[in-house]
Amino acid sequence: MKKCLLYLLFILSLAARAQNRSLTNTSNSKHTILSGTDIGSVKWTEGFWADRFAVLRDSMLPRLWRIYNDPHISHAFTNFEIAAGLDTGSHEGPPFHDGDFYKLLEGMAAVYAVTKDKRLDSLMDHAIAVIAKCQRADGYIHTPVIIEEKKHPGKTTAFEDRLNFETYNMGHLMTAACVHFRATGKTTFLNVAIKSANYLVSFYHRSSPELARNAICPSHYMGIVELYRTTKDPAYLELAKNLINIRGLVSNGTDDNQDRVPFRDQFTAMGHAVRANYLYAGVADVVAETGDDSLHHNLDAIWSDVTERKMYITGGCGALYDGVSPDAISYNPPDIQEVHQAYGRDYQLPNTTAHNETCANIGNMLWNWRMLLLTGNAQYTDVLEQALYNSVLSGVSLDGDRYFYTNPLRASRAFPYTLRWAGGREEYIKLSNCCPPNLARTIAEVADYAYSTNEKGIWVNLYGGNTLETPTLKIQQQTDYPWDGKITLTLDKIPAKPFSLFLRIPGWCKDASLSINGKPNSTTLTPGTYAELSHTWKPGDIITLNIPMPAVLIKANPQVEETRGQIAVRRGPIVYCLESPDLATNISIFNIAIPANIILHPTQITIGRHHLMALDGTALLLPSSNTHLYQQLSTTPPIPTPIRLIPYYAWANRGDTDMTVWMELQ
Ligand SMILES: [Zn+2]
Repeated sequence: MKKCLLYLLFILSLAARAQNRSLTNTSNSKHTILSGTDIGSVKWTEGFWADRFAVLRDSMLPRLWRIYNDPHISHAFTNFEIAAGLDTGSHEGPPFHDGDFYKLLEGMAAVYAVTKDKRLDSLMDHAIAVIAKCQRADGYIHTPVIIEEKKHPGKTTAFEDRLNFETYNMGHLMTAACVHFRATGKTTFLNVAIKSANYLVSFYHRSSPELARNAICPSHYMGIVELYRTTKDPAYLELAKNLINIRGLVSNGTDDNQDRVPFRDQFTAMGHAVRANYLYAGVADVVAETGDDSLHHNLDAIWSDVTERKMYITGGCGALYDGVSPDAISYNPPDIQEVHQAYGRDYQLPNTTAHNETCANIGNMLWNWRMLLLTGNAQYTDVLEQALYNSVLSGVSLDGDRYFYTNPLRASRAFPYTLRWAGGREEYIKLSNCCPPNLARTIAEVADYAYSTNEKGIWVNLYGGNTLETPTLKIQQQTDYPWDGKITLTLDKIPAKPFSLFLRIPGWCKDASLSINGKPNSTTLTPGTYAELSHTWKPGDIITLNIPMPAVLIKANPQVEETRGQIAVRRGPIVYCLESPDLATNISIFNIAIPANIILHPTQITIGRHHLMALDGTALLLPSSNTHLYQQLSTTPPIPTPIRLIPYYAWANRGDTDMTVWMELQ
């Protein structure tokens, strides 16, 4: 009886706290500048993100659901059914398959927050009931181990295999459950997450550092802090703090797993890029709650290292398929540590062999979003947007049916060997389907990144046609961004007191201009900052921001050997590429050179049924190369030739092609 009463009080207290329902709920975090808007309060109305959201709702989510519920293709849901005793058989699929399914549920919950689609709600209810049924009484939940325990009672292998992704899966469970709770008000999924978090709290109390470090790919740092924000149970924040402090305490840590040295001694990005970015995002969550300046200092240093020396122009992270860590223990060759899917050395940014797993690029967004909430600094929104429009969106086909695992910046059908984790879009990435549901939840949640709030007013982070509606505020945003830089904000409802609008002026933008109710406004608009407009507004006020976005040529730091003598093209936040279907069949992408004075005209095109902005111009056709390794440079002058560049994210939607972001400069 007492237990029931306590539970009732707990649920009531959750309901009271549910007033702020933002994706990353920092509304009570003492060390952040900003918090998000409630999920469901931003709805895409027109243009780019309305289109992407429709593809998510109508194609990505139903297809992923079908795949994960079809045991002939994927055991993602069947594994839960077997673990719950509702079916028989063995676990199939990668050990992180539970996490894939949780990410899909998170995406469904985030879409439900906007659409209130009853069918989505009942699908989630059905899945959550099965998940709850398979959870062990002590809160442990991980289908590979639970299924084995059912077959061999008394034998448990929990946390024995560090590649088993248990905490990774539980971390995604916690994040997904918080989003589900905020979207639906239901505590069914949240209860499963709370039980699993309580299990982890007790596990870390009693386990050795060796067992405790069996936690690769730390999505659970973000998950456990979000659960702390939802429940206010201080044990969860304590666990998150301890998880950081126990890194590097064992003798056999690796740079690949970012635990060879304690995190507080890390000032550069290293190792597996998904694990790294998830770790940095989770540490930022801990800093948001604790104000730990020392950890913040680590994050600042690592962020500079990534953005100044290790990140691709697409916001992609993870230059290397495979490599070694020369920083590790010894120069004795057998002792040198391997890294994989990893950050490279400074300026080591190959193009064709760039790994850039979609999940790493999403991790880059998750990290920068948290840094923005911590600081209110627009440099983080710039990187978030850079990754989002380029190396994240590239991860899914325009129709929402096929996915990339890796996101290289150049592809050639004549490439002489097959890469491990080969490129090419696939409907179901059999060995690593982590990226597709990660993309689904990310696209579902772009609306939650669009605005932030604090006591001064509202911060406009991302531009796109939408309405923001809260109890005190209604703003309509009209724009054809990212194809056009004119943005109109109409204030339909606004507090009748001094209230600030903070408009993000992207770092790439020059000569932005502003008018209020048609009159030019002289507020200074500095690139890479938020411009504060503080007024006592009235309903119907209209703010118009113009962000010119000419196509520009970009060169890399000359230390990047792989792009010496080459340029890339960017217009607004979009990075462009040259793809073979836009050239005559006898012309190779490698024979095109870009004159420094090229004029590129924006041109509306369609690929399939999708509208996007290409860039047309006149480039130079170089004499063809022969097959020799070295050959004398031809003296035949290049010939002017028309070219069309398309957004990088839209490549590989027209069959098997050659593509390059970096092009020779003439
Ligand atoms: Zn992935």
